[in-house]
Amino acid sequence: MHLEALSNAFGVSSVEGDVRKIILEAAQPYADSWRVDTMGNLFVTRRSRASQTNSPPLTVMVAAHMDEVGFMISKITTNGLLKFKPVGGFDRRVLLGKTVVVGPNKVPGVIGVKPVHLLRGDESKKVDSIDSMTIDIGGSSSQVSVGDFATFTTKFSHLGGQARPRNDRGLVKGKAFDDRAGCAVLLELLKEDYPLDLVAVFTVQEEIGLRGAKVASYAVNPDLAFVLECTAADDLPPLEEDAPPGFPRLGDGPAITVMDRSILTDRRLVDLLIDTAEAEGLPHQFKRPGIGGTDAGVVHLSRSGVPSTVVSLPARYIHAPAAILDLADFWRVVKLMQATLQRLPEKSWLNSGN
Ligand SMILES: [Zn+2]
Repeated sequence: MHLEALSNAFGVSSVEGDVRKIILEAAQPYADSWRVDTMGNLFVTRRSRASQTNSPPLTVMVAAHMDEVGFMISKITTNGLLKFKPVGGFDRRVLLGKTVVVGPNKVPGVIGVKPVHLLRGDESKKVDSIDSMTIDIGGSSSQVSVGDFATFTTKFSHLGGQARPRNDRGLVKGKAFDDRAGCAVLLELLKEDYPLDLVAVFTVQEEIGLRGAKVASYAVNPDLAFVLECTAADDLPPLEEDAPPGFPRLGDGPAITVMDRSILTDRRLVDLLIDTAEAEGLPHQFKRPGIGGTDAGVVHLSRSGVPSTVVSLPARYIHAPAAILDLADFWRVVKLMQATLQRLPEKSWLNSGN
């Protein structure tokens, strides 16, 4: 499992190179071919190993995005502080006082915050706009430039105080699980044989508008597509015992999307996922309909349309310095996707209408 290395890697939208290098090294032993396009999307193909039948194998695209949310340095002030713009969606409350690294040299810094001792009036009740925040790198501004990217420094670790942490269960914390968790699942999928041509696409620039997936899906021209994501768990504090069922919770298995702001997912694929989960005895849940968006939003509209759906790993506190996910859920997403790809019928199934 490559989640730790992928989570620790630096890869804000458009500078995914470090992440791509880790993925390519891990994927190459299982790849029949691979290539990187002009935007930086990585395509890894594993061809069908099924004995020849009359109908050609399906081409199935499974995508996960390599980029993470972060910041771009927009100005260096005369006293060496760095102004920045968000790259991707942030709640500004999570930023103050956090440690970051800046630019290709990974210069360490802190997003400044006024200590409680110095607050006046009702300052403690307000959160400044991102435009008024600065990154303090201790005055070593010769090592950074306007246009450099920055992200959080959180290191991956196992929670729960186990003496010997295991990779198959337990909670872990790290940054960028959205969507390095999806990338790590996709790497596991590449290790198996399927009766179809699997094109694993590790996309760029999802967090700023699904940009890599747009050109990638055109290039692959798949018969159908799955997008692997990391979605916000809905069991954030306060952890209500009686929270309504059907909202993604840690430990309740893969979250299947039926609708978000970018797609109404293909019902045949959703039914196949549900049937497969039931046949395999895997718990599953549904993402709360109508919120968020993923690469599937552009993949399903590619060319003359691509039947698509989304399978997500729930994680707490995404788009913030440290998220938490359950490794049991990670392996359930792997199993569900492996079993689903094994069960995909022949091409004629797609002509049956939706
Ligand atoms: Zn994502």
